[in-house]
Amino acid sequence: MKVPFVTFKPLEKELDTELRGAFERVYENSWYIEGEEGKKFEEEFAAYCGVKHCIGCGNGLDALFLILKASGIGEGDEVIVPSDTFIATALAVSRTGAKPVMVEPHLLTYNLNADKIEEKITERTKAVMAVHLYGQPADMDAICEVARLHHLRVFEDAAQAHGALYKGKRVGGLADAAGFSFYPGKNLGALGDAGCVTTDDDELAAKVRVLSNYGSDYKYHHIYQGYNTRLDELQAAFLRAKLPTLDKVNEDRRSTARKYLEGIRNPKLILPYVDWDLYTPVWHIFAIRTSERDELIAYLKEKDIQTNIHYPIAMHNQQAYQELGIAKGSLPICEEISDTEVSLPMYYGMQEETDYVIQALNDWC
Ligand SMILES: *Cc1c(COP(=O)(O)O)cnc(C)c1O
Repeated sequence: MKVPFVTFKPLEKELDTELRGAFERVYENSWYIEGEEGKKFEEEFAAYCGVKHCIGCGNGLDALFLILKASGIGEGDEVIVPSDTFIATALAVSRTGAKPVMVEPHLLTYNLNADKIEEKITERTKAVMAVHLYGQPADMDAICEVARLHHLRVFEDAAQAHGALYKGKRVGGLADAAGFSFYPGKNLGALGDAGCVTTDDDELAAKVRVLSNYGSDYKYHHIYQGYNTRLDELQAAFLRAKLPTLDKVNEDRRSTARKYLEGIRNPKLILPYVDWDLYTPVWHIFAIRTSERDELIAYLKEKDIQTNIHYPIAMHNQQAYQELGIAKGSLPICEEISDTEVSLPMYYGMQEETDYVIQALNDWC
């Protein structure tokens, strides 16, 4: 049996009529930027996240950047980010001119360790950008507590966690603002690039919207040297077709994850940890770890099972971030994860594929 790492086909088949209908609607209307579809999606996604505002933009990186920029963060400032995340979290910070300061995750949850934030705070620190990595919320109560003590703003990088719950509350509304990505492979994906910012803060919301649209508060009137990063009508229409299925999609991923967690019995593999009483993760990625990673990946490949690594090179070891001068070995937990992590197939509509993957893992010795 061939098991892809990810495929969009099962959901696209179910939503074929809706997605084609979305295209037809926009095309008939012949209006492509800043229109009704975008406005409606923003309302619908804000309601879904339980926040006052949603502002669409071009992608997840821009969403995070706009939040920081609208918060006045820039040159000379520092922003705490987890050392183990997709590089976009840090890029959003450095693009403002501020410095990303990396704090280690928990080896158990792979998410930012709130106990290690304080030692990295300086008089330049302005904010914490928490990431809900792999679709499991970060411990926001603990993070916000440290941040409030030091008068820092707290933002969520929710690019991997649409719909996830932390103590019964949806991500996107757990701190001052959140950035989402609708890259096709995310739990809620467009048919191209897209993203958004969610927040309850009226002032921040207004500034993000102006910045995203050439710094313009009304047509041809510019109060900032802004950007052009907007959610276009086609992507908004596709997202509106998919949003009503997000809970079902996430529930399906959770059921696959439960099968993996219950079925995989191999002492050479470390399975992800979840505190199901406090967290409802959405399994953007199902991450296991093993000290014999290359062997495992080769073995699974032979069985036609595709895997991935998130992420093979730790951020501070990337050529792009040599300027930070963080020595190899100085963020050992992050490096341990990046040296041992393997991501298993995970997508909406997995059926007998799940059992096949479990069997293959249990047969591996
Ligand atoms: C995907 C992702 C982003 C960036 O989103 P894009 O839409 O690709 O720009 C940011 N942070 C994390 C954690 C992501 O996984």
